[in-house]
Amino acid sequence: MLTNLTIFEIITLLGRGEISSGELMQAYVERIQQLEPRLHAFLTLRLEDALNQADVADQQRAELSRRGDAIPPLLGVPLAVKDVLAVAGMPCTAGSKILETFQPPYDATVVARLRAAGAIILGKTNTDEFAMGSSTENSAYGVTHNPWNLERVPGGSSGGSAAAVAARMAPAALGTDTGGSVRQPASFCGVTGIKPTYGRVSRYGLFAYGSSLDSVGALARDVADLTLVFNIMQGCDPRDATSGNAPQEQMNIEDNWSSRGLRVGVPDEYFGGGIQPEVESAVRAAIQTYQSMGAEIIPVKLPHTQYAVPVYYLIAPAEASANLARYDGLRYGPRVDADDLHHIYTATRGALFGRETKRRIMLGTYALSAGYQDAYYGKAQKVRALIRQDFERAFKQVDMIAAPVAPTTAFKIGAHSGDPLAMYLEDIFTLPANLAGVPGVAFPVGLDHENLPIGMQLLGPHFQEQRLLNAAHRYQLVSDWHKARPAEASILG
Ligand code: GLN
Repeated sequence: MLTNLTIFEIITLLGRGEISSGELMQAYVERIQQLEPRLHAFLTLRLEDALNQADVADQQRAELSRRGDAIPPLLGVPLAVKDVLAVAGMPCTAGSKILETFQPPYDATVVARLRAAGAIILGKTNTDEFAMGSSTENSAYGVTHNPWNLERVPGGSSGGSAAAVAARMAPAALGTDTGGSVRQPASFCGVTGIKPTYGRVSRYGLFAYGSSLDSVGALARDVADLTLVFNIMQGCDPRDATSGNAPQEQMNIEDNWSSRGLRVGVPDEYFGGGIQPEVESAVRAAIQTYQSMGAEIIPVKLPHTQYAVPVYYLIAPAEASANLARYDGLRYGPRVDADDLHHIYTATRGALFGRETKRRIMLGTYALSAGYQDAYYGKAQKVRALIRQDFERAFKQVDMIAAPVAPTTAFKIGAHSGDPLAMYLEDIFTLPANLAGVPGVAFPVGLDHENLPIGMQLLGPHFQEQRLLNAAHRYQLVSDWHKARPAEASILG
């Protein structure tokens, strides 16, 4: 099946003329038409356009090779984009009714760069409303199902992207990670994902959630494909001041990169509490694999980890409450009419934001309100600094940290629906990296007894993506977990 090819294989076969982009796209279109009704990974699909663009890509390739010109690296390769990133000509709902009719007239920088490299956007993937969630259950347009088990969530908020890649409906997809939203769905769906250093990738064209935490990442089938996509997305962009210091280096992953002497830190704090025993044992086995390849395994302390949930759930909603103020019924999307301006605001926001979004706006507004700001937001910022220092200290001792991505494998749809706090606690192992701004790569390291994927993350110092990718690639050279895929029977139900 053409949809089983990795991007590297696709590029090789396209280059040799053994397949065409048109054929490849046709295979993806059929795959999506077959599976989308069961998975609901997408909010927008542009399959006709994608087929036409694939034909154009084939003509372009023929023309460029006749002239002996360079072929753009992703020419004719399909890609899915999380519906919080602007793609010109497609709706961008952010999973919310408040943007139901909104169509941005421009591409996000990451999208523009990938399109310039020849990628073809299949459509926009499902997400929790404004990326607030860990399961896609907060999407205003219905939940995405996990291809490994349709009764389970795919994780979130980039759950549509993770499900699409796992089910071979796209070879790679863009996601965003504010508190785990690339790593956790990658882990729940058995794919590989990157959360870059804060500032490495432009946020221009990303619909902001928590601006000091948001990062744009990607999901793919393995580290090699991920690196290819990531290299095109990353790097400084004058349109995002926080990307100003991002180095322009290209990441090279090398098959002969050695993990001999690599110092891998293992934080106790990430193995306690309610962790599912199979998650712990799979992650420990992967760490053992590094040891057997010559890495030094060193216990490290990240003592403020326990505060990550309360700190994040003050800072992220505070920033969200400010960022979401722009959705007022006047400038974007639909409007609920009323007699005066004030009532237009309240009627529109009251009717069109979902429950979780309203909860966060209220939490954030309260945390920022006069008289409480120092006690809540101010205090949270102080503890955030301590969490960042935990990492700085640890990275004096080790090159990277290995830890589980989530305490459990994919939970059942509805499992936490009555209990927001239980949902927030699922994020305990992913939030600290965002609070510290450090990069992480998540990849599959096992399956539990119900055949659900288990993920591990490697976290590194700021701007050390290159080393994380090499280390993750090393693991994939000696293991097969990233090749495991959901059984067709489980997707088809
Ligand atoms: N689950 C976290 C939240 O609900 C993180 C989401 C994200 O990374 N976008 O905020």
